[in-house]
Amino acid sequence: MTGSIGSLLLLGASGDLSGRLLLPALGQLLDREDSRREVVLVGAGSEDWNSDAWQQRIRTSFADGKVSDEALQSVLATTRYAKADVTSPDDLQSLIDSCPPTPALYFALPPSVTVAACKALQQVSLPEGTNLVLEKPFGLNQESAASLNRLLAELVPEDQVHRIDHFLGRSTILNLLGVRFANRLFEPVWSNEHIERVDIIFDEQLTLENRARYYDHAGALMDMIQSHLLQVLALVAMEPIARADAVDLRDAKAQVLRACRPWNDDPVRAGRQARYTRGSIDGRDVPDYTAEPGVDPARNTETLAELLVEIDNWRWAGVPFRLRSGKALRERRKEVLVTFKPLPHLPTGMRGQALPDRLRLSMGPDRMALEMNINGPGDPLQLDRVSLDTDMNPGRLPAYGEVLAGVLDGDPMLAVRGDTAEECWRVVDPVLQAWRAGNVEMDEYAAGSDGPSSWADGA
Ligand code: NDP
Repeated sequence: MTGSIGSLLLLGASGDLSGRLLLPALGQLLDREDSRREVVLVGAGSEDWNSDAWQQRIRTSFADGKVSDEALQSVLATTRYAKADVTSPDDLQSLIDSCPPTPALYFALPPSVTVAACKALQQVSLPEGTNLVLEKPFGLNQESAASLNRLLAELVPEDQVHRIDHFLGRSTILNLLGVRFANRLFEPVWSNEHIERVDIIFDEQLTLENRARYYDHAGALMDMIQSHLLQVLALVAMEPIARADAVDLRDAKAQVLRACRPWNDDPVRAGRQARYTRGSIDGRDVPDYTAEPGVDPARNTETLAELLVEIDNWRWAGVPFRLRSGKALRERRKEVLVTFKPLPHLPTGMRGQALPDRLRLSMGPDRMALEMNINGPGDPLQLDRVSLDTDMNPGRLPAYGEVLAGVLDGDPMLAVRGDTAEECWRVVDPVLQAWRAGNVEMDEYAAGSDGPSSWADGA
């Protein structure tokens, strides 16, 4: 922990992320009863806004987040906005000089502008304890992520860099720590001895939703698997931690990510890609992806990606971790599904099929279910399948609020450490290269379906 933050300098304050996610989450964080934070919010962007326009943006965003009037008024009392070119050292210096100590600089900017702003910071005098907050994508491959890490290391110590992956602030994902480490039941069987496979799925019904400018350059593998789903894998597969803090958690995640690689070390066979064609979702007509505004078919971007990852260590050798995410699918399915191995033996005389036990952790709605076999009704020797279900306790804050709390506390526990950001690219880079080189076929699926029919072998 580097001490708490006195001001949040939002660079790119007029952008989509700031208005739709960051400002509402900040309001909700400041609104919490146990929150005694006093943070001065300074917005900066290319828009020539006066104070009224800026205050109106905060009002609208806080209203979206159902933030109390009290929290709103306390922010409005001290906030200000400045038009600035965030790639200019002079503009940045005067912005930072105007921030009460200690500032956190949030780069809510297009990735290339973030890099240019970080380069400009080399010519700026940063107050002691300044925190830097970076969005995804962090680099575009392992090499560019390493280069950005080197640049950041010249500016502030690693513990003052928050690489945001808001999945780490999702309550279900944080619940993984409770499920695994606060129960006797799971950890002893949490290995290749008892687990057959792990599926980490993030299927959306959402389509492109006018995000071609970003998504058509990224695709499902880079957008979801390289960042979010590998982070979730790390929490599922890491070794037990002694302390739930930034050091132990991030060390454990780094260790397991270092052991990850595409299945059989074969980047061509370990992944599958597909793209949606015309179809309908819940009665809504969806055009072919390539006909969506802003899409360039020549880029051959995938909208559904699957990657089989192996973890080359004692605990997990031989267990496939299937990471899958896609758009325009029939069903919203967002979960971690742990499938246990078949029974070694079912007593003779018991009837029915003993299906493997499964633990299902669902995101939104946040639920947990343990699917298992018990004796059926009537005939006690007949097996019956049941699911022990519970809602997960909702988090105190939405995911962005949770990660912002880490930023404002100067606690990087939920931030992605530099080495792990590079490790995630190391796993994905060869697969991306194989796809971009045309070495892996692009399958198709109708919007509103479960994906290509030839893929119907998943869990
Ligand atoms: P936007 O393009 O909506 O916003 C970026 C903002 O930065 C714009 O207001 C832009 O102004 C401003 N800007 C660009 N260059 C400069 C400059 N030189 N000086 C001052 N301001 C500048 O992008 P998003 O908000 O969507 O995304 C921001 C970051 O967050 C990206 O890294 C993205 O990947 C990430 N992200 C976004 C999510 C989202 O849902 N939007 C979700 C997760 C991550 P102008 O338009 O006038 O150029």
